Amino acid sequence: MKTKYVYLFSEGNGNMKELLGGKGANLAEMINLGMPVPFGFTVTTEACNRYYADGEVIHEEVMNEIFQSLAVLEEKTNKKLGDISHPLLVSVRSGSRASMPGMMDTILNLGINDEVVETIANLTGNPRFAYDSYRRFIQMFADVVMGLSKAKFETIIDDIKAEKDVHLDSDLDTEDIKEMVKRFKAFYARQLGEDFPTDPRVQMIKAVEAVFRSWNNPRAIFYRRMNDIPSEWGTAVNIQSMVFGNMGNDCGTGVAFTRNPATGEKKLFGEFLMNAQGEDVVAGTRTPQTIDQLNEIMPEAYHQFVEICNKLEQHYRDMQDMEFTIEKGTLHMLQTRNGKRTAAAALKIACDLVDEGLINKENALLMVDPKQMDSLLHPQFDPKKIKDAKVIAKGLAASPGAACGHISFSAEDAIAKAAMGHKVVLVRLETSPEDIEGMHVSQGILTVRGGMTSHAAVVARGMGICCVSGCGDIKIDEENKTFTVDGVTYREDDPISIDGSTGCIYGESINTIPASISGDFERFMGWADEVRTLKVRTNADTPKDAAQAIAFGAEGIGLVRTEHMFFEGDRIKAMREMIVSKTEAQRKAALAKILPMQQGDFEAIYETMKGLPVTIRYLDPPLHEFLPTSSYDIQQLATDMRIDLNDLKGIIQGLHEFNPMMGHRGCRLAISYPEIAEMQTRAVIQAALAVNKRFPEYDVHPEIMIPLVGDKAELKYVKDIVVKTADEIIAASNMKLDYKIGTMIEIPRAALLADEIAEEAEFFSFGTNDLTQMTFGFSRDDAGGFLKDYYEKSIYEQDPFARIDQKGVGRLIKMAVDLGRQTRPDIKLGICGEHGGDPSTIEFCHKIGLSYVSCSPFRVPIARLAAAHAAIKSKNSK
Ligand code: PEP
Ligand code: MG
Repeated sequence: MKTKYVYLFSEGNGNMKELLGGKGANLAEMINLGMPVPFGFTVTTEACNRYYADGEVIHEEVMNEIFQSLAVLEEKTNKKLGDISHPLLVSVRSGSRASMPGMMDTILNLGINDEVVETIANLTGNPRFAYDSYRRFIQMFADVVMGLSKAKFETIIDDIKAEKDVHLDSDLDTEDIKEMVKRFKAFYARQLGEDFPTDPRVQMIKAVEAVFRSWNNPRAIFYRRMNDIPSEWGTAVNIQSMVFGNMGNDCGTGVAFTRNPATGEKKLFGEFLMNAQGEDVVAGTRTPQTIDQLNEIMPEAYHQFVEICNKLEQHYRDMQDMEFTIEKGTLHMLQTRNGKRTAAAALKIACDLVDEGLINKENALLMVDPKQMDSLLHPQFDPKKIKDAKVIAKGLAASPGAACGHISFSAEDAIAKAAMGHKVVLVRLETSPEDIEGMHVSQGILTVRGGMTSHAAVVARGMGICCVSGCGDIKIDEENKTFTVDGVTYREDDPISIDGSTGCIYGESINTIPASISGDFERFMGWADEVRTLKVRTNADTPKDAAQAIAFGAEGIGLVRTEHMFFEGDRIKAMREMIVSKTEAQRKAALAKILPMQQGDFEAIYETMKGLPVTIRYLDPPLHEFLPTSSYDIQQLATDMRIDLNDLKGIIQGLHEFNPMMGHRGCRLAISYPEIAEMQTRAVIQAALAVNKRFPEYDVHPEIMIPLVGDKAELKYVKDIVVKTADEIIAASNMKLDYKIGTMIEIPRAALLADEIAEEAEFFSFGTNDLTQMTFGFSRDDAGGFLKDYYEKSIYEQDPFARIDQKGVGRLIKMAVDLGRQTRPDIKLGICGEHGGDPSTIEFCHKIGLSYVSCSPFRVPIARLAAAHAAIKSKNSK
């Protein structure tokens, strides 16, 4: 059947969002509900896709259908586009399936030219209105269709006002505005090298094309990436006959929400302007009145509007965000959609709608975007302050929340400043494990390099501290403690604000408001827990993080990164001694110093978790990460260890690796130095025995996880050491203790050979950070720098380090799940890479039947809700 590319509003309905976009489908639905909607038609998302498939041209078929529908619209309105006796004017507006800021939005008054404007002046008896509509149209068309900024025309308006010696636009008379139109057109021609199009049909097609083009502008691509919207959805275009809110004092225009979008309160919320067009409300040049005041000015229109609001909310069973215009006392609805709302409002509205009997609990859960939960748990910028703040640069939104403080360029500086009571934001080229303490005392962390799984991103997320990583716009000079962006230099102690939820950087201080968990949170999350089947664990390395995760509802720890425990005070010294040891005896002596510290940590974590499962991963990173880098520290270590400085320098040099991520790390360390695995086993088992003795009711069963395994034999070698050590300790204790040994699947070879590996592993945990790195061959620390070129060129749409690449990495995971189960049907399967807190990845994990996801503590509520969404969606699709 021939594809239909254009639908009249009377041919659509609210269920056709995929084809007509949200705006088009809802306009059609309002028409079906008998509401007063100016008539029009929608050019479909398929037409948009066709535009791109055809090499960015509007196909003749689409063009013909547009003009056929235009003919129907002309007949219905008794007007004609470009006609000099009864001219039709239309608005052209974009509308994709999900509402998407960043795209071309609206052109009003399309259809005016030099003749039509005269007719409008005569018909309305209001030439000033006619010419004002014309000049607005030229401005909007130039801006959104031709990319010539609206603001550039403002100087012309200022010039005319200066010549007339008046201050307000309203002081200009018809002749002035006619002059303005003349100058606008001349400016347009000068700037763009072509005349302003006088043929309304040309205007229309150019506007449609501009909407299609805006689907792929950088802002729209960015928004899609942040919100998991695939590019293949495309956008629709709505063409609707104009109604005028600016024809006199019995006219007006406004926007309203059926409930308060900031608090969720059940009360109509909105504003309007008399004698104005839509853009005036948004532009903020005149102060709008509250919607209640409409009742005093035009009670009839107000009551009709309230009735429509109630009807729409009942119909859509959700809070609505509506636009309306009143032309000569008559109300017209221009849009309705499910309104955007703050996280707190989202929870309240969802709970209230359940209590009002409008929706059930599952629909209430689906109504809240899991990612939105973030803003409930982290401080945010004061919305009033952020409105006027200037973004100086943008990086990756690596760890959510907002931070404001003074710039520090090193961890030491940050610590010193924080000790003096200052708020600091740590700005680094990239962070390393040595920065951990400085990161901890900072309000936020900004790095120039590094992606979503870089050290800064992972650690900040774990701590619940805001972080923007990979901000390549910044040129940093750490030595001289400055950074430059766009020619402006920022120095130590200068104020800075960063938003880890958007990646925006501001070169000024912006107030933050603290996180607030409302009473609805617990109730709502309880509903999520009732329906989800995936368990949610956390990645936590300290009792504090573990306790935080439990408070957020974690059901265990899926990853304790043991190396994170070795960067403080005496510990790093003992660790360094162990690394530079030349003999096994020396190494054992150093490990003996580490053992009690590690055991103490595990005891504290087991006690915090009170018997919930804890997966402890053995030492993973390349050893040289622990080594001193400054000459002072190297000298110090040589003195402490009583070894020759040059000898030590030689050892450090010997540990240098060209590619440490693929170097001597993970289980490879235990293969070279089995005594490390032996010591860690002692710590894990002795701690469990000690805690079980103190708290028999906890009944701790440690889960020991061997990282970076690529072969069964590798795992078996390390496992044998673990089993031998553990069993000896347990036997000597005269106590019983169950423990499990499993592995991470984070090397593609392990996924390919998962059936063999499962012979030795009682559980798999997918380390998707490394699995992504090694499957793509993209360094997880460097990819952020060049991936943006991939997004711009539409090669990849998403950051594979943030959202699992289901096609490639996902295939490996699925394969490993199937192979693992072939060998060991009851194998426990989880994920502990950073993807474990990403909603779309969680849906994938649910589908392939993992038992749990593990994520940083502050993402636990997101994961609980995302797991509930996954369960409901898969139930609904059956
Ligand atoms: C992983 O690789 O996904 C993982 C969890 O381990 P790490 O990030 O510590 O390498
Ligand atoms: Mg890893």
